[in-house]
Amino acid sequence: MTRVAVYDVKSYDRQCLEAASGSIDWEFHEFRLSASTAASAAGCEAVCAFVNDTLDADCLQALSSHGVKHVAMRCAGYNNVDLRAAASLGIRVTRVPAYSPYAVAEHSVALLLTLNRKIHRAYNRVREQNFSLGGLVGFDLHGKTVGIIGTGKIGRVAANIFKGFGCEVLAYDKFPDQSWAAACGVEYTDLPNLLRKAHVISLYVPLLPETHYIIDENALAAMRDGVILVNTSRGKLIHTKAVIHALKSGKVGGVALDVYEEEQGVFFEDLSDQVIQNDELIRLQGFPNVLITAHQAFLTEEALRQIGKVTVDNLLRLSTGSEPAEHTEVTC
Ligand code: NAD
Repeated sequence: MTRVAVYDVKSYDRQCLEAASGSIDWEFHEFRLSASTAASAAGCEAVCAFVNDTLDADCLQALSSHGVKHVAMRCAGYNNVDLRAAASLGIRVTRVPAYSPYAVAEHSVALLLTLNRKIHRAYNRVREQNFSLGGLVGFDLHGKTVGIIGTGKIGRVAANIFKGFGCEVLAYDKFPDQSWAAACGVEYTDLPNLLRKAHVISLYVPLLPETHYIIDENALAAMRDGVILVNTSRGKLIHTKAVIHALKSGKVGGVALDVYEEEQGVFFEDLSDQVIQNDELIRLQGFPNVLITAHQAFLTEEALRQIGKVTVDNLLRLSTGSEPAEHTEVTC
């Protein structure tokens, strides 16, 4: 039976992994994986990690010295894994390339609707028997221009949802797929034009050196006054300080985030009885037109089932000497 140490485990992770397979000897850890915790994987052939674990060269070296041969990421992104170090140590890295683009796309739309129609504020008011409507005015999405940055799996689902609302959809992608766009009634354009025209801008690109701070001071200055920004991809796509500045000046009309630059050690945790040290996060929470969820866009039953199934498949294939399924292995 292959032995696997799993890190940053929440109850839903445990359920989805155990439901996918009884033939793995799981060691579940609530703490995150890093160089300082890697010794806990001693005796395991593989580790299973998530978005906020730190698999840098030191961590991978320590894992290798304890006999670990496989890192199975239970997520799509792998920006927190030093792939070069893994390759030089002979550690193979797998991931779950897609679990449910619908989960993430639908959450981004849910955030936008909540923010625009002030559902979060209305919910709290009504619970306090305050049935007034002051300050709850939103706008019709119908007829508005939505800018989709990144038309991969999630961006395409989101574009289709916005088309369903009767929006004009403008898209920007480094590798545009014109036949998909023509079939869906989506128009590709360059980034400056998208920034200039869109009433709503939603991000669906991965975090890469060239997408880091794709929304910075200059990008914000190019946008329409009152633009709404939605980010369910990665926190570092947006320069938080610049967005705070644009919110204070009124340039930006609203921001909905499921990811945040400095989310590590904060998101996924219950810090309700602690003093939060991150001043920008607290400043963001002080705006009535900012809505934040803590990296939950993926959290649907369907996505969790798929994450469990593919992660277990990756673990079992590599432990029995088979090749992992197509697109699941990542190399540098
Ligand atoms: P994908 O790989 O299918 O699509 C990414 C798209 O971005 C591709 O079309 C690609 O061509 C485009 N792209 C890459 N570099 C670009 C650049 N420099 N400029 C413009 N476009 C560029 O990925 P996906 O499955 O759609 O996921 C998108 C992102 O969503 C992931 O990278 C991840 O960061 C994020 N995500 C978040 C959650 C969550 O729970 N919040 C869950 C899953 C994924």
